[in-house]
Parts: sequence; C-alpha cells; structure tokens
Amino acid sequence: MTKRSAILYLLLIFALLALVAGWYIASFLNREVDSVSFDSSRAYADVQTQVSFGTRMPGSAGHAQAREWMRAELESAGWDVQVHESEKMGHPIFNIIAKRNDEPPQIILGAHYDTRTIADNDPDPAKRTEPVPGANDGASGVAVLLELARSLPSDTTPVWLVFFDAEDNGHIEGWDWILGSRAFVEEIKIAPRAVVIVDMIGDADLNIYLEKNSNATIRAEIWNTAAALGHGDVFINEEKFSMLDDHTPFNEANIPAVDIIDFDYPYWHTTQDTPDKVSPQSLQAVGDTLWHWIVE
Ligand SMILES: [Zn+2]
Repeated sequence: MTKRSAILYLLLIFALLALVAGWYIASFLNREVDSVSFDSSRAYADVQTQVSFGTRMPGSAGHAQAREWMRAELESAGWDVQVHESEKMGHPIFNIIAKRNDEPPQIILGAHYDTRTIADNDPDPAKRTEPVPGANDGASGVAVLLELARSLPSDTTPVWLVFFDAEDNGHIEGWDWILGSRAFVEEIKIAPRAVVIVDMIGDADLNIYLEKNSNATIRAEIWNTAAALGHGDVFINEEKFSMLDDHTPFNEANIPAVDIIDFDYPYWHTTQDTPDKVSPQSLQAVGDTLWHWIVE
C-alpha cells in the first residue's frame, strides 16, 4: 500500500465513523423529542385499563384499584402523590394530588376519576340500575392527565394534577354532584393562575364548544392554542353549554377556571360508555393542546 492510499483508507474509516456517530446522536435526539410528546396510544391504553377495573363508583373495589394504579403511574413518571382525604354527605372523599416540587401551583389540571353508580340514561330500562363503565365519562380525562404527567417537561411553570373523587353521583338519593372538588376548594389553600378541568374529552366524534361558565381569558388562550395546532375542528370557537362540573367550586371561590367538555355524547350515563366510543385521536387533540398551552 502506498503512503497516499493509506491516507485515503484512513480518511474513509474516519468518514464511516463520523457517519455512525452522527446517526447515533440523531437517533438519541429523536428519542429525546419522543419522550416529551403526548402519546395517545398510551393514553388510550389508560382508558382501557380503567374500564377493566369495572365500576369506579365511590366505595367499590375498582375505585380503590384505580387510586392505587394512578399513584403508581404518577410516581413512575416522577411526580409526588398525596391523597387529600375528606368527607361529604357522609361519604369518604379521596382526591389524588400530583406535584413535582413544593412550589405553589400556577396551573391546576383536574379530572374526575369516579364513575356514576347508575346508568339512569340507558335506553334499556332494565339496565338503568347498572353502573356506568365510564370510558369517556371519567377515564378519558384521567388518561389525558396521566399522559401529560409522562410527557410534560419538568421545568414548566408549576403544575398540579388533581384527580377528583365523587363528581358523578348527582340526582341520586344521599348524593350530589362535584363533592370531591368542593371538598378540595374548601380545604386546600391555593391561588393558581388557572384551573382547567377535562371531562368527557375522548368521544371519537369530538366537538368541544366554549363552556359558558368558564373564565373567558383562559378559555381564549386554550382555544387559540388549539387553533394554532390545527385542532380548530375539535375546539369550536362558539359557546354552547353551561355546565355544573369540577370547575364550579373554583369559579365560586374566584379562582379562574375552565371546563373542557364535549357534552354531545349519546352514551352519557349509559352502559354503552365503553372504550370503543373513545378514540386516540380525540385524546391526542386535547393532550397536544394542553401540553402546548402549558409549555408555551
Ligand atoms: Zn357523568
């Protein structure tokens, strides 16, 4: 081998090494990007997991199982979990609070994890005493919060994720709506910039209208973020419903709160509220929007 061809040979080896190193670094960077983006397949699996626990009505085995599962998921994503225990109308309340540090929360994201005790809207009268599976009404909001727990960068403005108990038993003897969030607002001292509730946001045919009792400034920020991401067909910039939901106690306490809800759901409070009515794409639209609203 001549001296010249030896140099060329070395150069070739260097070029190949540089190529391999470049490819390795690029794949590493891609993985970094992947790890901080909202993954709707994981969120959809969270819907299926919750429904597999059976009814999550307060006091049920599925309710206790859901609490332990949420704790494990949150802790493995690096969040500290506290249980706010209280009592309302003689019912024990277990609100689950997840935080990443001791700073006071600037944003609180909330969803109820309990499911309604009876499917009193079921078209079949014989099924109106059965429990609601709660794939959309309960599990979808929890799924979006859990996937945000996994995907939000750790250096965002301080966020709490709160999983409210006992939201969904209104118009049942001995119960009322939103018991968990009422206990939370009464007993936990907080002054966040915004509270955002997600409820029934997994419908495969997702149409989220502006909710009339929501804070107009925060509402506009979120709907503008959705529009910029191309989700303007899901986040419709028109008012439609006035809801009593977990945002209500916050609004009553003069804490700016927004309810993100699609109340056009034909399976609401029926035994048909099952995972096949929920789509990953819907969870993605809501998850992406909240992720970008918080991070940007
Ligand atoms: Zn409900």
